[in-house]
Amino acid sequence: MINRQRMLDQFLELIQIDSESGNELAMSEKLIGLLKAIPGAEVRTEAAGDFYKTNGCNVIGWIKGSLPGEPILLSAHMDTVVPGNGIKPVVKDGIVSSDGTTVLAADDKAGIAQIFEAICSIKESGTPHRDIEVIFSVGEEQGLYGAKSIDVSKLHARQGYVLDTGGRPGRIVTCQPGQYSFSATITGRSAHAGNRPEEGISAIQTAAKAIANMKLLRVDELTTSNIGVIEANFPTNIVPESCFVKGEVRSRSKTRLDEQERHIYQCFEDACKAAGASLEYEKTVKYLSYEMDLSAPVVAEYVAACGRLGVEPQIEGAGGGSDANIYNQYGMQCIVVGTGMYKNHTSAEILNIEEFGKCAEIILDVLTH
Ligand SMILES: [Zn+2]
Repeated sequence: MINRQRMLDQFLELIQIDSESGNELAMSEKLIGLLKAIPGAEVRTEAAGDFYKTNGCNVIGWIKGSLPGEPILLSAHMDTVVPGNGIKPVVKDGIVSSDGTTVLAADDKAGIAQIFEAICSIKESGTPHRDIEVIFSVGEEQGLYGAKSIDVSKLHARQGYVLDTGGRPGRIVTCQPGQYSFSATITGRSAHAGNRPEEGISAIQTAAKAIANMKLLRVDELTTSNIGVIEANFPTNIVPESCFVKGEVRSRSKTRLDEQERHIYQCFEDACKAAGASLEYEKTVKYLSYEMDLSAPVVAEYVAACGRLGVEPQIEGAGGGSDANIYNQYGMQCIVVGTGMYKNHTSAEILNIEEFGKCAEIILDVLTH
């Protein structure tokens, strides 16, 4: 049985350990200690790779069970967004919030506390359970960097749950978009803007023409696209010779993701050609989309657990990415499940204590069936 008070206490302790992205050392050490305290747990760490600078590391655990069935992965990230240092929790009327000056970091420490409580309560009661693999990742908020650097060949589990979304208990995210980022550097030609402007090629004007031709924001039902950066800074008496533009494309369809990204590229290419400017363009694959079949065991088992607990499942898609995108990219079957948090990434973030408990009970039920 989930010990709700113990889980809440654990949560309150975890959120008071600072772990903004890049500074996950103390949390890594704390999680290693907590995992090692679980009887029979094998614990190891993995560095996050050269592309993500952190003093922490991914923490991975393996707890052999006696129930038949596929091993189950439980995953949560240990890094938080800013402002996430010096969190002072306020517990009132069944809700945990920060004092308003920081996030609460229920994203994703609520998930971490639920994973530990589910495992601890199983060990305490001696209830037979499935094989359990645990991943606590770093750098999720910065671009899923921890999950991206996991050595998948060392994992036992091929299906699992990322405890990292809001909404009421029973909420399951089975579909998340893929994301590309792109950057374009347009190089034109400088000239005196008053004396000989006809000799110049304005990189700013070229970028503006390219962007004006782009389909952006809500592109279609599955696809969004946005430009976030335009950089050029010249005196007004010089025709600007360079301009840097950066943006993103997201789509739940890989085909549409590729099409939109090619459309963006084409707009830059056409505008540069017309103006006689040159283009340096770069696309980065942040992560790929996934859509889990609702008949997949990972969905069916969670839905069955909801049924046993009298919780109505709520199956949805989400607009953002999570570590589940990366695990699915690895060929695993993973979905994202609710933790009882709301308004994450803001200083108004809260944790609903009742829902926090219920979500943990669903996970416990999955592990013991
Ligand atoms: Zn999160």
